[in-house]
Amino acid sequence: MEDCLFCKIIAGEIPSAKVYEDETIYAFRDIDPKAPVHFLVLPKAHIASAAELGPENAGIVAHIFEVIAAIAAREGFAQGFRVVTNVGEQGGQSVPHLHFHVLAGRDMSWPPG
Ligand code: 5GP
Ligand code: ZN
Repeated sequence: MEDCLFCKIIAGEIPSAKVYEDETIYAFRDIDPKAPVHFLVLPKAHIASAAELGPENAGIVAHIFEVIAAIAAREGFAQGFRVVTNVGEQGGQSVPHLHFHVLAGRDMSWPPG
């Protein structure tokens, strides 16, 4: 999608620190990390947010969580980790392309601010 920051990152038009890539998903380090480990996992297909998901997206969402679990095992998040997706302005979403934050390496507070 034109003018989408994350579509441009996926296309390689904007550089990123890649964590994982396959045919349908892409993961890269957050430019402004909120934890010692902070990366984003997203579908390559442009979906605006989790509010846009329907039954047709069940496979990609399951695949994203499968890959997150594999990366967590590979990188040794033995103490745990957090997965977050912000939705819309009040939900704190700043980039309108569905993405899951994966945070690890410190204690996480609850509820988040
Ligand atoms: P949101 O606020 O939409 O939940 O998350 C967007 C995330 O993208 C933020 O954590 C922000 O730091 C990250 N971000 C914004 N622009 C860039 C960029 O150009 N490169 C990378 N690697 N991360 C970005
Ligand atoms: Zn996009």
